[in-house]
Amino acid sequence: MKKRILTGDRPTGKLHLGHYVGSLKNRIKLQDEYEQFIMLADVQALTDNFENPEKVRQNIFNVALDYLSVGIDPKKSTIFIQSQIPGIAELTVFYMNLVTVARLERNPTVKTEIKQKGMEDSLPLGFLAYPVSQAADITIVKSNLVPVGEDQLPMIEQTREIVRKFNFLYGDVFPEPEAVIGDVPRLVGIDGSYKMSKSLGNAILLSDSASEVEKKVMSMYTDPNRIKANTPGSIEGNPLFIYLDAFAPEAEREKIGKYKDLYRLGQVGDIEVKKYLSRILNEFLDPIRNRRLKYENNPKLVEEILKDGTKRVGDIAQKTMGEVKKAMKIDYFT
Ligand code: ATP
Ligand code: MG
Repeated sequence: MKKRILTGDRPTGKLHLGHYVGSLKNRIKLQDEYEQFIMLADVQALTDNFENPEKVRQNIFNVALDYLSVGIDPKKSTIFIQSQIPGIAELTVFYMNLVTVARLERNPTVKTEIKQKGMEDSLPLGFLAYPVSQAADITIVKSNLVPVGEDQLPMIEQTREIVRKFNFLYGDVFPEPEAVIGDVPRLVGIDGSYKMSKSLGNAILLSDSASEVEKKVMSMYTDPNRIKANTPGSIEGNPLFIYLDAFAPEAEREKIGKYKDLYRLGQVGDIEVKKYLSRILNEFLDPIRNRRLKYENNPKLVEEILKDGTKRVGDIAQKTMGEVKKAMKIDYFT
């Protein structure tokens, strides 16, 4: 039997380059070797978007399109919608007994997000508890591996703790899942900030047109100390070179090395490097754009893929919940 993968994204916006290097690339690579489940995390998206259900609904289609465009193959990977699997909500309730509030409040990613979203004084319980719900997502299909970006490591650790506690108290039901991190664990934003994110407006989208990419790259943050093209620049932490390293094909390595040398010496301008980066990114995105066209014009096909996937996971979830209830001694009428 193949080992399993569970991973997913919040339908809060279209996917971007950070998703690609952080997680999508691993999913494409691993979908042959593993039985892979990819979840549209609409319940999780609602924890901080509950006033905006329309946004979440629209992005279900957008994110599904992004998956298919990058080469997630619906014949190899099962794409499904979180809210349609009632077992996940049920399992979350059982897991809530196994986690303390203090433990949730220590989660560094959740802490950062609460600050970013200005929710310090109005924190929804559902948001604080989303790592518990995520443990239910991962374990309901008995996942072994979870391809994620670096910000999700605390969630996987939380999941492992819950699994250990559950198995200890009620008997061995779940495998302890492991995280697998992408080539670039955390891609910086075009504004040079900590993380490219759908919610921060600092992303290059996988669905951006060539001219949108060019416009965004031209506005990119580079080295703030570089006032003129002949001021020596720094490469470290410079998004231009971080993106070049992440998205250029092997054949461009030598040229990139030369650009780095010239940049350090103040012998090449930001504009020239930006033009080069635009070309590299557009060449990377072209095959993704082409694949997108096929699905974009066929929304019925996308809907079928989601329906089939959700049905498959529904069956697996039911089976897991049967085992969970038996282990917890709440299987009264079987
Ligand atoms: P939101 O702002 O709504 O939280 P997001 O851009 O953080 O959106 P998520 O749906 O939360 O995207 O994350 C989906 C997956 O993509 C996670 O595994 C996450 O770690 C990964 N990911 C997101 N942004 C990046 C990034 N900039 N670099 C690497 N991985 C990323
Ligand atoms: Mg996120």
